[in-house]
Amino acid sequence: MSATYKPALLKALSRIAKRSDNLSIPLEDIGEEFAKMYWNQVVVYHLRQASSVSKESEVIRLISQTSRDYGMRNFSDLPETGKNRIRARMARVLTINVLAAFHASKPADMPQLFIWKRGEAGITLSPESHGFLRANCGVLELIANYHWASFLEACNRLAPKVIQKVARDGARRSSLAPYLRILTEDTARGCFYCGKHFEGGGDSVVDHVIPWSFLLEDPIWDLVLSCAICNSAKSDWLPESVFIERLVRRNQEVLREKLQNKASMLFGAEDIERLYQAAISLEWPRFWSPALRLGRLP
Ligand SMILES: [Zn+2]
Repeated sequence: MSATYKPALLKALSRIAKRSDNLSIPLEDIGEEFAKMYWNQVVVYHLRQASSVSKESEVIRLISQTSRDYGMRNFSDLPETGKNRIRARMARVLTINVLAAFHASKPADMPQLFIWKRGEAGITLSPESHGFLRANCGVLELIANYHWASFLEACNRLAPKVIQKVARDGARRSSLAPYLRILTEDTARGCFYCGKHFEGGGDSVVDHVIPWSFLLEDPIWDLVLSCAICNSAKSDWLPESVFIERLVRRNQEVLREKLQNKASMLFGAEDIERLYQAAISLEWPRFWSPALRLGRLP
């Protein structure tokens, strides 16, 4: 219960058994599942997988390093060489910390889920284990997500929506078009960050001031109009605090009036400040302002 490797391994095996009839599973296949499952949690959601940063696990270190080396934010965008490298390295981590420990707390009368002998490059499932994993893969994944998320809640006390961040495979985002209409009535102000004026409403995009990947939702109080350059340069960085103050003022001055009937959609200044400080305390990438240039990765 000191790390998330057990739920990760259970989830990986359920997924592999669901799609493959093979009873022999190469460690590199499990390694790739590990990389996929941890990738968003590390690179996109910046969730800690240990109670202190100095105890951060090998898996996390490998993913951060790979993301930096290739300059990639999405696992699916990694080139084949990058995927192969991380598969191989994850397979090695499995042999050190994960496979032998998996059955450590198993009741004596329960059969092992898989067989692995030190030195072997794969594990073996019995036909019964394979059938069990395949028949129950959905439930096993829910159980694994539950244990994973409850562990992460203790390491990331202030992070919103931990369960969703663990359970989601990809970063699905909904369209921000409905907000564009409300926000464009305010185009006279220009880009929220650099003040650049929009010509005829063009060139403006909806931007999350506190990053979407931290909130995992699109509340109108967090959305502003930005020029395309600021939007892409800011990426998922936290802005400098001057923009949080500007956001609070904007909400008070502009949105309160437009959204009279939906006042609950507005967060108060204290709530926004609390979320901002929570992200800072979780070591979210910071602090962005239009003065910063592109080319710095968190
Ligand atoms: Zn701008």
